[in-house]
Amino acid sequence: MAQLEQLLQYQQVDSELLKIEQEASSSDERKNYVQAKKFLEKAAEKLDGLDAKARELTALANELNAKYAEIAETLGEFDNVDELLDGGAEISFYKKNVLQLLDTLRALKSEINGLNKSVKEADEEYRALKKKTLAVQEQYNTEFSVKYKAYVEAKKAEMAKIAAKLESIAKSIDAEVLKKYKIKRSERIFPILCAEKNGRCPKCGTELSLKGKEQIVSGEVIECDGCRRFLFKDK
Ligand SMILES: [Zn+2]
Repeated sequence: MAQLEQLLQYQQVDSELLKIEQEASSSDERKNYVQAKKFLEKAAEKLDGLDAKARELTALANELNAKYAEIAETLGEFDNVDELLDGGAEISFYKKNVLQLLDTLRALKSEINGLNKSVKEADEEYRALKKKTLAVQEQYNTEFSVKYKAYVEAKKAEMAKIAAKLESIAKSIDAEVLKKYKIKRSERIFPILCAEKNGRCPKCGTELSLKGKEQIVSGEVIECDGCRRFLFKDK
């Protein structure tokens, strides 16, 4: 594998591209954009959850209210307790029943109050989140998304220039070698081409094989057995 000079030149130009890619991925434009996008995705899910919870609690409160009304109505029937007593019914029997129903009503009332409080809380949480979501959505639409797109567009022109330069250098590099280079690049290995140091890979420290040592001495480029980088003889 010769073509060391061309490969080194290619890598040098490629490093400019990598720099832009790294700058883009850590730019405030991208950070704001991604952060807002994530927030909006999560908020949508959370709002759905809160909405479902409020509905569930409301349905339960309605059920208990109906039960309450039913018992209250039953108690109303005891209004004619005097008549019943005149008719000779046992006073303690009715009194006991009324007291029991009143106890049930009291328990129901407290349960309903608790539920109403939970509904109110879920509703307040929903409203607060909804308000924030709308604000973030607005900022996402009018600011973050616009700025990020403009940033990407601006970088695109710069990147296209470098890509054209790379393409022109690539013409003098063996296709198979270039393919290997690009695979390594996509695996985020960089630099891809390194000068060996004292018979070892300078990046991962793996010692070159005897054959590998012979090869680089004769001017070949070899692959590190450890990290698969291209290695060449240190001058
Ligand atoms: Zn290595």
